[in-house]
Order: sequence, then C-alpha cells, then structure tokens
Amino acid sequence: MNFCSHCGSDQLEERIPDGDDRLRIVCRNCHTVHYSNPKIVAGCLPIWEDQVLLCRRSIPPRKGYWNIPSGYLEHAETVEEGALREVWEEARARVEILQLHAIFSIPHIGQVYLHFLAQLTEPDFSPGPESLEVQLFREAEIPWDQLAFSSSRFSLKHYWNDRRAGLRQVHLGGTQYDLLGNPIR
Ligand SMILES: [Zn+2]
Repeated sequence: MNFCSHCGSDQLEERIPDGDDRLRIVCRNCHTVHYSNPKIVAGCLPIWEDQVLLCRRSIPPRKGYWNIPSGYLEHAETVEEGALREVWEEARARVEILQLHAIFSIPHIGQVYLHFLAQLTEPDFSPGPESLEVQLFREAEIPWDQLAFSSSRFSLKHYWNDRRAGLRQVHLGGTQYDLLGNPIR
C-alpha cells in the first residue's frame, strides 16, 4: 500500500495503534488504520453418484493441476453463494449444497478455506474460463499427485473416508506447508 485509500495521502506508517497489540498500517494524515485480515476461499465438492467433480486449473498458481472448484469470497455474498458461484464459474455446473465439509486454515498466507459437499443437480458441466478440463472421478481415479492445493487433498481424503464409514461431519484442518507443498521453515 503506497497511498491511504481514505484520504489519498502517502504519509503511511507501520505502528501499533493505541489499544491494539500488533503492527498496522496507519495514515498520519487522517489517522485511518488500514487493517489487513485473512481471506475466505469458498468452494464445493460436487458429488454425482460415486464420483466427485474436479477442475483442472487454466491459471496460476498451480496451472494444470486439479482442484475442488473454489475461489475468493466477494463482498456482499454469503459463503454459500460464493461457493455456488465458483462452481458455476469454474465448472459450469449447478449444485445443491448438502453440508459444510471442511474448514482448512493456512495461517501463513492468510487464507481460510470453507468447502461444502454439494449434489450435482445433473451430470452437466464444462470448463469455465479458469479451467482447462472438468471431470468426474471415482475414488480410485483421483489424481492424488496432480492436486493443486493441500486443501483439496484434505477435503477429498476425508470425503472418501466418510463415505466408506457412512458419516457426515465437518473436518477442521490446516497446513504447515505452502501452496506448492513445501514445508514452512
Ligand atoms: Zn489517510
């Protein structure tokens, strides 16, 4: 941030505001505190019979790798609306949300994933602009070594385990790895 988004001043400084306990960017001119907080990533794991729908990314990061349709929540939408929008944008598919499936925190990059289980209303899908391919996979067909993000691996592993056990539950997780799977030092 080079300029204050409130008054346009370039007199920004990093300091701990009175009554706070961590560094913030503060405008010396209008005294606005510019908070920076983690982002929500909303998505759905679409289900059709004994298969799940994954998208192969056409954009970085992790271009060419498979992912659960998901993306950043926008202002003025609920997390469910965001998840449904992402399924449409990436997979051109319509789903009905069944339940929250996973909450996956990645603290070092400030992201929280919320994945829902969702039922495809019909097996009708095609790649949106951010996808190279969209495909249904049975468990044995999941491209485990070609998954884009650890959040997808987490949600998929738990989905198949739950399915075998006949369980519906919410899973809490997180990672000590970056988006490329490298351990954080
Ligand atoms: Zn200002």
